[in-house]
Amino acid sequence: MRYISTRGEAPALTFEEAMMTGLARDGGLYVPETIPTLSTDEIAAMAGQSYEEIAFRVMRPFIGETFTDVEFRSLIDAAYAGFGHAARAPLVQLGPNHFLLELFHGPTLAFKDFAMQLIGQMFQASLTRSGKRITIVGATSGDTGSAAIEAFRGLDNVDVFILFPHGRVSEVQRRQMTTPSEANVHALAVDGDFDDCQAALKDMFNDFQFRDEVALAGVNSINWGRVLAQVVYYFSSAVSLGAPHRKVSFTVPTGNFGDIFAGYIAKMMGLPVERLVIATNQNDILHRTMGTGTQTKEGVTPSISPSMDIQVSSNFERALFDAYGRDGKVVAEQMADLKDKGGFAISQGAFEWLKGHFDSGRASEEETSATITAQRDVTGEILCPHSAVGVKVAEAHLSDVPMITLATAHPAKFPAAVEAATGVHPALPPRMADLFEREERVTRVANDLASLQSIIRARIAEKVQN
Ligand SMILES: *Cc1c(COP(=O)(O)O)cnc(C)c1O
Repeated sequence: MRYISTRGEAPALTFEEAMMTGLARDGGLYVPETIPTLSTDEIAAMAGQSYEEIAFRVMRPFIGETFTDVEFRSLIDAAYAGFGHAARAPLVQLGPNHFLLELFHGPTLAFKDFAMQLIGQMFQASLTRSGKRITIVGATSGDTGSAAIEAFRGLDNVDVFILFPHGRVSEVQRRQMTTPSEANVHALAVDGDFDDCQAALKDMFNDFQFRDEVALAGVNSINWGRVLAQVVYYFSSAVSLGAPHRKVSFTVPTGNFGDIFAGYIAKMMGLPVERLVIATNQNDILHRTMGTGTQTKEGVTPSISPSMDIQVSSNFERALFDAYGRDGKVVAEQMADLKDKGGFAISQGAFEWLKGHFDSGRASEEETSATITAQRDVTGEILCPHSAVGVKVAEAHLSDVPMITLATAHPAKFPAAVEAATGVHPALPPRMADLFEREERVTRVANDLASLQSIIRARIAEKVQN
C-alpha cells in the first residue's frame, strides 16, 4: 500500500512515512494509491464485534508492513482503553430513522480523540523503533489541540506545540490545552483566527530548512492516519443498523472536511452509504460551494460552534483530487487560486461528481440554539452546538434510509451555548471535574511566522540542554 500526493509532485510513501510526514512536500495531502475494499461478507461479519475488532479489520489493509497484526491490535486496544464508554462510539435513536452517533466519550470529549489517541500510539511505536525525536506542531480551532496534547503528553521523543486562536476557543477547550504540566507540552495563543493558525502551520511545513531542523511532524486533520482512524466508526455504526444488508446515510458537522471525508472512504471501501450530508454553521463556505460550484473565501464570523469556524477546509482537497479523476496538476492550480485569488471555480464534471456523493446544509446560530432546546425537550439528549448543527441539517434530509448524525463533542465542552439554550449547565464528567482549579501555562504569540519559529526553536533548545 503506497500513498500519493493530491498535487502529484511529491514522492509516493509508505503508510508509516505518510503518517509521520503529514503535509506532502509539494503542498498536497497524502491519499492511498488505491482504496482497498471489503466484501459484503467481511462487512456482515463485523456485526456484534467490539469497536477494537472492527477497527482492526477496517484499518489493517491500509497500514501495509508498518505494524504486525499483533502489534497493531495492541496499539488499537491501548488507544481506546481510556474512553469513558465500553461501546466507544454508542448510537442512540432520536426519532424514526434518525440516530445520533456519540463520538465524545474519549479523554478530551470530542471525536478528535478517536484519531489522536491512535496516532499517539502509532507515533510512539514508530519512534521507539527508529530512536528519532520529532516536533509536533498543530493548529487547532479548539478540539484537535487538546486531543493532541492528551495523546502526546509526557512522551520522551516528542515535543508538542499547539497554535490556537487567542480568545476564540471555549474556556474548557483552552484549559484542556493549558493545564497539562508536562515539559513537552507547549500551548501557544496566536493573535489571529483559526485560518491564521492553519496558514502559519502550512508555512512551517513549506519552510523545508525549518521542517528538517526541528524534525517537524503534523497531526492536523490532513494527516492520513487521522482520516483512517475515523473511517472505523462509519462501519461500526452502519453495521449496527443492518449494513451491509441495509443502506445508511450520514450527516457530519464539518469544518476541515476530515471527518466527512472518512465517511467517503468508508463508502469507497464498500460500505453501502446512500448520502453524505455536509453540515455547516454560518461559516458556510462548503455549503456555498455545493450550491454554486465555486469556492470563495469570506471572513470567519465567530459562532457558538467554534470548532467549525473555518473558511479554508483543508481536506476538501482530497475530495477534489478524486473529483478531477486524480489529476494532481489541476488540484495544484485550484489550490493556488484559493490562496492567491481567494477562490476557484470547479469544472462542471468535477462539480457533478461532488454532488453525486455529497449533500449539504447550513444551520444559523438561532437554528442551532433552537435545536439544542428542542432535542432536550423531545428526546432528553443534550447536544453540543456542533452536534446540533448536524441534527438541524439532518432533519431536512430524513428519508426511509436510516440517517446517522455524528455528535462530535460533549455538551460540557461548550457549556455557555448549552446553558443559554436549555437553562442547564452541563457538568463535566467526574474524571475532569477539577479542570477549573488546575494551573494554566500558555504563551501569547503574534500572528507571525518568524516569531512562532523562534519560540519553537528556543523551547527545543531549552529541553535539549536540560
Ligand atoms: C473538529 C470538529 C469538527 C469539524 O471536523 P472536521 O473533520 O474538521 O470537519 C466538528 N465538531 C467538533 C466538535 C470538532 O472538534
